[in-house]
Amino acid sequence: MLAAFSYVRLQRENCAVGEDLEKLKQRLSLLDYLRQQNWVARPAANGSEFVGLCPLHPETRASFYVNARKNLFYCHGCGQGGDLLRFVQLSRHLSFRESLAYLDQQSALTVDPVAVLEQAATFYQQQLDRYLEALRYLEQRGLRDLALIKELRIGYAPGGSLRRHLTAQGYSCDLLQRLGLLNPQGCDAFYRRVIFPCCRGGRVVNLYGRSTGVSFAHRFLPGSKGGLYGWEQVQQCPEVILVEGLFDYAVLWQAGFRHVTCSLGTHLNADQFRQLCDRPRTVYLTFDVDGSGQQASQQLAHRLRTQGIVTRRVLLPDGHDPNSFFVQGGDARQFHSLLEAAQP
Ligand SMILES: [Zn+2]
Repeated sequence: MLAAFSYVRLQRENCAVGEDLEKLKQRLSLLDYLRQQNWVARPAANGSEFVGLCPLHPETRASFYVNARKNLFYCHGCGQGGDLLRFVQLSRHLSFRESLAYLDQQSALTVDPVAVLEQAATFYQQQLDRYLEALRYLEQRGLRDLALIKELRIGYAPGGSLRRHLTAQGYSCDLLQRLGLLNPQGCDAFYRRVIFPCCRGGRVVNLYGRSTGVSFAHRFLPGSKGGLYGWEQVQQCPEVILVEGLFDYAVLWQAGFRHVTCSLGTHLNADQFRQLCDRPRTVYLTFDVDGSGQQASQQLAHRLRTQGIVTRRVLLPDGHDPNSFFVQGGDARQFHSLLEAAQP
């Protein structure tokens, strides 16, 4: 997903001076900026101070001090001092306004999208308990285990509140739009959707939003859906159950099947396919029992076998997916029988 954001596409934003300057300093500290510029420093005696050679005048003994807590610098050699903006004015010979525009671009370059997605996921997670419609929806999909809901970090996007939350933390609307969290009109992109963060190596790489209404298709943020969902937990397992939907994944997990992973759709991307083939194992394909699900399942089984992977196709009752199977009264023992009866 990271590659999808074109950070070289710099955009100049119109900054309303005072307020935006403060937000800008939150996004990009003086010390971060200096480090970007390859300033080498060591901690000074005072805990929050750093000292190094002055970038503003030639010197051989370090006399340039940065106070990280106050976000200010002072040079005992040339006598210059001030904040980040002052430093940019002096070092780049720019006017106040030019410096502001320059820094705005710099800060957009340094924001880590993963950190923003993490903030969004946390926010959505905090909303879940506040919306009865969300909890009802989860129950309707057979998800009752609160510990599991917490572990999967399932959240809820009521719509209309993420923008305020994230811009208050200094993230620009421009950035949030580029990440797909806001739509081109500047409104929350996820509206009345249950949210599953998709993680990799413990980092949120995408968000999956399932509409609580019937008529809207599920959706992701722009960019890759990442690898197989929950892959890190099952990678070592000699047998894995592969499902196509996150609610299938969740009910199976809830029923005690922990060797389950999810491809987030019937089409596996190259990354997901590679993951399944990274060592000898048996894959139980448990896609929806409808035309397209079974067709995809057969094709995938064939492709996996050419890579030396043993496949078994789990046949649920007609018209079912693992989620509906459990929602309509199926239990772990019955599902276990289906696994045992799975066809090569
Ligand atoms: Zn100096």
